[in-house]
Amino acid sequence: MATVSAAKIKPHLYDVSCALYEEAQQYLAGGVNSNFRMGTQPAPLFFDRGDGAHLFDVDGNRYVDYVLGMGPNILGHAPPVITAAVEASLAQGVLYAGQHRAEIDLARTFCEMVPCADLVRFGSSGSEMDQAALRVARAYTGRRLVVKFEGHYHGWFDTILVSTQPPLDKAGPADAPTPFLPSAGQSAAAAQDVAVLPWNDLGAVERFLSKYGAETAALIMEPILCNTCVVRPHHGYLEGVRQLCDQHGVVLIFDEVITGFRVAPGGAQALLGVTPDLAVYAKALGAGYPIAALAGKREIMQLIGRGDVLHGGSYNTNVVSTIAALHALEELDRDDGAAYLEMERQGNVLMEGLRRLAKRIGNKLLVQGLPTAFNTCFTDRREIVDYRDYAQHTDAECLRFFLKVLQDHGVRVTSRGTWFLSTAHTDQDIEDTLAAAEIALQTVRE
Ligand code: PMP
Repeated sequence: MATVSAAKIKPHLYDVSCALYEEAQQYLAGGVNSNFRMGTQPAPLFFDRGDGAHLFDVDGNRYVDYVLGMGPNILGHAPPVITAAVEASLAQGVLYAGQHRAEIDLARTFCEMVPCADLVRFGSSGSEMDQAALRVARAYTGRRLVVKFEGHYHGWFDTILVSTQPPLDKAGPADAPTPFLPSAGQSAAAAQDVAVLPWNDLGAVERFLSKYGAETAALIMEPILCNTCVVRPHHGYLEGVRQLCDQHGVVLIFDEVITGFRVAPGGAQALLGVTPDLAVYAKALGAGYPIAALAGKREIMQLIGRGDVLHGGSYNTNVVSTIAALHALEELDRDDGAAYLEMERQGNVLMEGLRRLAKRIGNKLLVQGLPTAFNTCFTDRREIVDYRDYAQHTDAECLRFFLKVLQDHGVRVTSRGTWFLSTAHTDQDIEDTLAAAEIALQTVRE
C-alpha cells in the first residue's frame, strides 16, 4: 500500500522561503522570532496558511503537520468551532484590564478537568507560568533551592534555563550533573538556586533531599519527558518522588505545558495517577491561541490570591484566548474524551507503521512515547530512559537527514524528532505519512 503512493510523491522546492528568509534577516534578528525556528533546512520555512492537519508554505508545498505549532494545535489548524467562537467575540473587544464572565467559565472547566487544580491563574505563555510556579513555591516554603532534571525544559527565562540539552563534556558526572547555562547573558546568580539531577532515578532524588531537603522549595519536572525523546517515568518513580516531596515538605511541580490536555483530558497527572502540588499548563489548553495556566493546591495558590505573591500580565485572560481555550476544553472533554480515543488510534497506527517500515528496510529506528506525542530517533537501544541515554546513544545526524527527506516529501516533524497528533489528522494523512516515511527510511538506509 505505502509503496504505490510513495512513487507518486514529488519532492518539494523552497525557493520562495529562501528568498523571504534573506529579506527577513534585514529586519528581524536572525530572520525569525524564536531561536527554536532556526533549524529547518534549507531555510526556516514561511507558511501561507494552515487548515486542519495541513500546512501550506509560500512555495506551494503541502505538509501533513505533526509540529502543530510545537504542540498547541491539538484540534488542527483553524478549527472551525474555535474560529467561529473567536470571530463572534471580536466585537466585544479584546482587553479590559478587568474581569469578564468567560474567565470564570474557563476556570471552572479547567478545575473540573485537572486533578491538582483547587485554584488556577491564567497567563500567556508556559515560560512565565513556570516562573510563577517557582515564585509561589519559594514563598510557600520560605526556602531557596529548586531541583530540576537534565533534559527537561521549563521555558527560556534565566532562573530555570539550566541543563536543558547540556553538551556532555560540560555536563559533569551523570549522578550529580553540573548546572549548565545554555545562553550567553544569563545571570550566573540565577543558577545558584537550581540543582540539577538525572531523571527517572529515584535514588538520586532521595540522596539529594536527605542532604538538602530543608533548603529545597520545589522539585519541577515534565511528568512525561517530552522535550527529550518522549520518555515515560519508570514504574513507581512519580509515586516515589511524590512521597519524598511530602516527607521533606518540598512543593512538587509538574510542568504539563506539553502533556496537559494532550496525553489525557487532565494531563499526565490524570493519566498516571500522581497528583502534584502545582502544575503548569499551556499549548493544547488554547488550541493554538496564547494562554497558559498555573494551578494547584488551594493553600499554596492562596498566596497569589491574597496578594502576597505577585502575578501579573497585561494580556492575561484576553477575551480571544479565553474564548478559544473555553471552546477547546469543551471539544476535548466532549463524550468522555472521545477525541482522545480517535487520536490514540491514529497515533498507534502511525507508530506501528513506522516500526514496521524500519524493520523491513533495516533502519535502527526507535519509535517511543505515547500515541498523541511520540519521538523517533536512530539508536541501537531498545529504550531511551533519560537525557544522557539520548545524547550518548542516538544518531543526531541520521535524524536530521530523515526529517529533511520527510519534509521534502510533505511531512513536517519537529527538529527533535517529536510528532504530535491532532483531532484533525485523518486515516488518509496517516497513510500519506507512511508513504513518505518509507522513502525517507530507504534514503537514510542508502
Ligand atoms: N515547559 C515545557 C515542558 C515546554 O515544552 C515549553 C515550551 N516548549 C515551555 C515550558 C515554555 O512554554 P512557552 O514556549 O509557552 O513559553
